[in-house]
Amino acid sequence: MTTASTYIDQAKTVVVKIGSALLVDDNGELRRDGLAGFAADLAMLQAKGCRCVVVSSGAIALGRHRLAKASARLKLEEKQAAAALGQVQLASEWKAALNQEGLDAAQILLSPDDTERRRRHLNARATLNTLLDHGIVPVVNENDTVATMEIRYGDNDRLAARVAQMISADVLILLSDIDGLYTADPHHDTTAQHIPEVRKIGDEIKAMAGPAHEDFATGGMITKIEAGRIATQAGCHMAICNGQNIRPIKGLIEGQRATWFIADANPPQARKKWIAGGLQPQGQLILDAGAVGALHKGKSLLAAGITKAEGVFDRGDLVAVCDPQGQEIGRGLCNYSATDVAKIAGCKSSAIPDILGYRGRDEVVHADDLVIDQQSDAKTAESKAIG
Ligand code: GLU
Repeated sequence: MTTASTYIDQAKTVVVKIGSALLVDDNGELRRDGLAGFAADLAMLQAKGCRCVVVSSGAIALGRHRLAKASARLKLEEKQAAAALGQVQLASEWKAALNQEGLDAAQILLSPDDTERRRRHLNARATLNTLLDHGIVPVVNENDTVATMEIRYGDNDRLAARVAQMISADVLILLSDIDGLYTADPHHDTTAQHIPEVRKIGDEIKAMAGPAHEDFATGGMITKIEAGRIATQAGCHMAICNGQNIRPIKGLIEGQRATWFIADANPPQARKKWIAGGLQPQGQLILDAGAVGALHKGKSLLAAGITKAEGVFDRGDLVAVCDPQGQEIGRGLCNYSATDVAKIAGCKSSAIPDILGYRGRDEVVHADDLVIDQQSDAKTAESKAIG
């Protein structure tokens, strides 16, 4: 069995989710010692060359006390007001704690549309990656002030898994008030046994999840298992470990008890499954023979290799990529609308700003967002062998 330290050592990008109860006490006060420990753990990961994203809860827990609503059940607008109040404090506390460690913080507030809709997904991902490339730690939360009951992630476990999926993270760590998954609720059942590793999330695993037992934490084991499903399908390992411990990630690396959900496949392949799966292409890009060859070698699609755009699609939409005969060879997410592709087709990437009047991405479809049909791959190999 691979140890936790191996998963983390091999990771280039790690998402860490920290629950409200770990950051805010019963009086609505921030737990500064805990926060300082989390910041030190993140600095340790960054020093290993690992890019870190924090998904931090706590805005509502911090803000509700300032609305004098500590115990009453909050109405939606009160929750949103509490989140607005608490988020400012949460972000500035994170900034101070990370600054202490020589790191910088940036705030990202997301709504489900930002991870589920392809166009916004590309934007949010580009922003996160730009921050990570600059060594900055993005501190993410749900955009609670605009989220309504119907349109919200609802819990940060799932939000963290979506973020991990979006940026192709290698490891997601859920810091919780418990050190993992048990066969029953260990708070009520003394025979409950700890599960160190989950390789398949079947019904028996789901049945082990009890309801949430914290007053102001929305995520129970069910949302953690759901997060595990999203993360592992995206090729990301996920750990649930106890964030009440001092320096919990250091502890995790040193072998402290946790539950590891093992990723389905390696990250790029699993992410591509998500692109290939289920969506209907909105249009087609016809390529020249050179571009077809380049795509089969794993390269991105550049404007120069496109001869024609068909259909009506927007930036971020799924398109089919086709050979010069119009035969589909794969699918990918297009960084330009159909109108813009028509203008830049056949041109060098460096000419795009002049033609379109804005600087877009160099790739029309990035290799990470492209799935090439294996059969067409085989056909090309065959025709090469014959030729
Ligand atoms: N976004 C909420 C907050 O910051 C927390 C949701 C959760 O913990 O799952 O208060």
